[in-house]
Amino acid sequence: GMVLGVLGGGQLARMLAQAASPLGIRTLALDPAAGGCAADVAMTQQAEWDDWAALQRFADQVDAVTFDFENVPAATARWLAERVPVYPPPEALEVAQDRLTEKTLFRACGLPTPEFRAIASRDELEAAVAGIGLPAILKTRRLGYDGKGQFRLREPADIEAAWQALGAQAETVGLILEAFVPFERELSVIAVRDRQGGFRGWPLTRNWHVDGVLSLSLAPAPQVDASVIAEAMGHARTLAERLQYVGVFALELFVRDGQLLGNEMAPRVHNSGHWTIEGAVTSQFENHVRAVLGLPLGLTAARGPAAMFNWIGELPDRRAALAVPDLHWHDYGKTARAGRKVGHATVCAAEASALAGRLEQAAQILGRATQAEPAISLLRQD
Ligand code: ATP
Ligand code: MG
Ligand code: MG
Repeated sequence: GMVLGVLGGGQLARMLAQAASPLGIRTLALDPAAGGCAADVAMTQQAEWDDWAALQRFADQVDAVTFDFENVPAATARWLAERVPVYPPPEALEVAQDRLTEKTLFRACGLPTPEFRAIASRDELEAAVAGIGLPAILKTRRLGYDGKGQFRLREPADIEAAWQALGAQAETVGLILEAFVPFERELSVIAVRDRQGGFRGWPLTRNWHVDGVLSLSLAPAPQVDASVIAEAMGHARTLAERLQYVGVFALELFVRDGQLLGNEMAPRVHNSGHWTIEGAVTSQFENHVRAVLGLPLGLTAARGPAAMFNWIGELPDRRAALAVPDLHWHDYGKTARAGRKVGHATVCAAEASALAGRLEQAAQILGRATQAEPAISLLRQD
């Protein structure tokens, strides 16, 4: 049988392993840290990213390698790629690891982005604030996730605090200043490209973030013009082709005055695609496994509308929620900790009004009534 190697052993590796299993594919996850939640369902090994002897043993045991963690050092990915197929290609991973190269690529591919400038010093930050204007967001170029490594500037006096917070990282991971976009909505494209260049996208997902962390997703995103859908898919495809991408990726978009702006891409399966496990004909996890191992892709159509709640910090009690029809519970088996993604729940239905009712019921039981309200009202208008 085939074995899929995954660098990183968190919940994404866990859900990849869960998707691989019915295909007769076993998963081996490698992580520098012990106790990742993939260990319940996958084989795991513990090694540092530069432990070449351990990486050689890992490579010898797998048919292909992929990532659950986008910040695996590019040198590790390239070293493995000389020994075993690695998808997405290390070059694509590297571009997506740096917000500066990523946004530069977006623009080169015809996808507009918020205005941005690389920042190497406090003087450059002052100049960039003068050039871009306020509000703006100072972000680390590398290693940020879930809104970490970001500082929002509202007025010139915030420059001092922003530099205090992140200035030391200018020389390590680099900094970028971005214009703050007062967007109407956030959308993501989840798409997959196979080894032959075949491309498929799932229906667009509408996302709501709280404090920079994804909190609720709704798919297919209601009330998006067909032209915007086509444009978003076109951008995703162009980027994937430019990167010679293989596997699933996410493209995060802002919609401002009806125009799309590229925020970032995730070179891996993505939190805003978790609804595809029950809500689509083939999940993002299964299609990623298929693409990476050179198997034919499955259909990406939605079975109906679906909504996903993220559980951050701790899981609510599942008992009452399980009474909601077509609600699916995902407990990652992690210990509770502030800010940590510990699980999610997806609610599905055959049509929008039915989903609105179930979502309202689930949100009430789970203490998310206020938060689910915009999604519920969109579904009721649909
Ligand atoms: P992820 O967990 O998605 O990888 P991240 O830490 O890489 O997150 P971003 O995607 O850059 O962070 O930002 C998180 C959220 O913060 C965005 O989804 C958006 O809601 C908000 N945000 C980020 N950049 C901007 C911006 N330039 N203008 C307005 N809002 C923004
Ligand atoms: Mg990110
Ligand atoms: Mg993001």
